[in-house]
Formats: sequence, structure tokens, C-alpha cells
Amino acid sequence: MQLGDFEITAVTDGHFRLDGGSMFGIVPRVLWEKKITPDDQHRIRLVVRCLLVRNGKRTVLIDAGLGNKFSDEFRDRYAVEQPVTLIENLQKAGVRPEDVTDVINCHLHFDHAGWNTIRQDGQVVPTFPNARYWSQRGEWERARDYAAQRDRASFVPDDFLPLERERWELVEGDHAVLPGMELLVLPGHTPYTQGVLLTAGEQKVAFLEDLIPTAYHVPYAWIMAFDLHAAGTLETKRKVLPRAVREKWICVFDHDPHLVAARIAEDSRGRLSVVPAEGFSDNAG
Ligand SMILES: [Zn+2]
Repeated sequence: MQLGDFEITAVTDGHFRLDGGSMFGIVPRVLWEKKITPDDQHRIRLVVRCLLVRNGKRTVLIDAGLGNKFSDEFRDRYAVEQPVTLIENLQKAGVRPEDVTDVINCHLHFDHAGWNTIRQDGQVVPTFPNARYWSQRGEWERARDYAAQRDRASFVPDDFLPLERERWELVEGDHAVLPGMELLVLPGHTPYTQGVLLTAGEQKVAFLEDLIPTAYHVPYAWIMAFDLHAAGTLETKRKVLPRAVREKWICVFDHDPHLVAARIAEDSRGRLSVVPAEGFSDNAG
């Protein structure tokens, strides 16, 4: 879709599966399985959705998917399906890896930073040779010290360690990447995870990533058990989502297998629901 000067394209990197209970935290299975059916290993199928944003000068990739560096064991554990990869979907949109000027890593877990790097002739090298990579400094520091983290299993060191320090734009707090493109820190899932808010006049499109990974996670209590600080997620939702309602943001979901984007509505009792946004689809299955 077009938002002022920005051409915004949803680009996916296939699907993977995560434990359904972990995806819905304290919400009982009898409630969430009415909405999404788990497989025989109790996993639910999720998409890996990134955003491509272009304005004629910059070509920005928001999130970098699962990548292709993983083992067969990893592929089985997470039931990775990549009939079309992120790189192929970028190609369909007319973007080659060397065209990408900026990669925004919302956080550095394996399903958000996978294509940061590829393996080439036995070496791990940047996938996007001309890009700078954006991260919150705190998230980058946490990732470099991944072995000490509670979420250590969610990091693949080859996604970030081989990238030299000069490639990184490390920011602290909310930050304008360019006019109309702002990084928003969204503490909860990780302490420094960040989303992206795109603005053109009154119109706004938001990529709130793992704050609301699917449309099911819009209601306040639907919070992932994966979140390092679930009460912090709630606090962030209470701060950000009423603003999204007021300003009619179109929110893009990073892991919703069915719905790409929606506006959020609030009823008289403050309960939130989604209103699917027209005209927003993935550029491939
Ligand atoms: Zn994720």
C-alpha cells in the first residue's frame, strides 16, 4: 500500500510452528484452541512476516525473518516451511539484497534476524552488503551476551555476531530513522524490543511485532508466555494500543497466519477488538 511517499509491502519468510500454550500465556487452552488449532505436538502454525518500505531513496527492510542457516533438526523442531523465502519475495517486489539500505531488527531472536546473514563459502557474511542494521543498543548487548539470557534458546549467534560493529546503528529509545519512520521501544517480550511507526499526515501504519504477534493477541490479557516480562507487555499495550485506537493506526501482525493488518477498536468497557484493514495482503503465500 502507499502511505505518503512510502510504498509498503508485506513480505513473508514462510511459516513455522511454536508451542500453542507458550503463545497464549495464561489464557486457557480451551479458549485459544477455539481460535487456532494446534497440531499433534501442540504447536500452532505462524507466519513470519516482515515489511518492505521504500521511498525512492531508501529501501528499508523491517525484520529479517528466519533466514536459511538452520539445521534439519531446527527445521523439524519448528516445522519450518519456506516454499518462498523472504529473499525471493523481495525479488518479486523488485528488490535485490544489494538494494536494501537499512535493515531494522525489531529484536534479535531467530525469527526476526535470520536473514541478517547468510553462509557463503564456509563463512557467515551479511545478506544485505550495503545495509546498515538498526537495533536498540540494549537488545544488541543482550544478544552478544546471549548465553547468560533466559531466552538464550531464541538467539542464533550467527545472525548478529559476524556483523562488524560499523554495520550497526545502535539507538537508545524511540528514534526517527527518517522523516515519518519512527522506532518505538515496546518493552515486554524483551526489554528493548522495538516496533516501527510510519506516518504520512493523519495516516499511520504500525509494525508492533511481538507486542501483538497475531490478531488474537490484541485483547490485553492475551500475552505470550515467551515474554520475558509479561506485566511489562501489559503496561506497553495499555500505553500503545489506546493511541492506536485514537489515531486509527493500521497495525501489521508479524506472526498472524491469516490476517495481515487491522485497525483496533475499543468498546465502551475498554475491551479491544480488530477490524481487518482492506488492501493489505502478503506479496506471496
Ligand atoms: Zn517473533
